[in-house]
Amino acid sequence: MNKKEQQELERRREWRRMWTRSWTPWTETHPEIEALTLKVKAAGVEALDATRQDVWTYSATSVPLHECGNPSCSIGGIDLRPLVSEAIAEHKSTIHTSAICKGLEGNPPRSCRMIVDVSGWISYKPAATGVGT
Ligand SMILES: [Zn+2]
Repeated sequence: MNKKEQQELERRREWRRMWTRSWTPWTETHPEIEALTLKVKAAGVEALDATRQDVWTYSATSVPLHECGNPSCSIGGIDLRPLVSEAIAEHKSTIHTSAICKGLEGNPPRSCRMIVDVSGWISYKPAATGVGT
């Protein structure tokens, strides 16, 4: 690994650290949630690649930042927060959508645009009734 690659890796790690620090598990920010599972897999042309068939699973406490898998993508990764927040706001129990990487690759930089399929399941605690009885 040369010096430039080393610096890039450091930059990514630092960015990820900052990102992680700014995030709180769903069960803390949304106490009505009992459990949350997200499954993410490659979509688009990537999905045809036999080496890109993995499915990643995220729970309510895993950091919802999906590595896009593009080695030349800088400070990329797919932020799964907006789609989960939206589903929770609408009290949805399932999510079926796709998300796109907003990182940059190459020089001059262009959008990475790696795309993934996201499936999710959210279960909510029963609404509190008869508090104090
Ligand atoms: Zn990317």
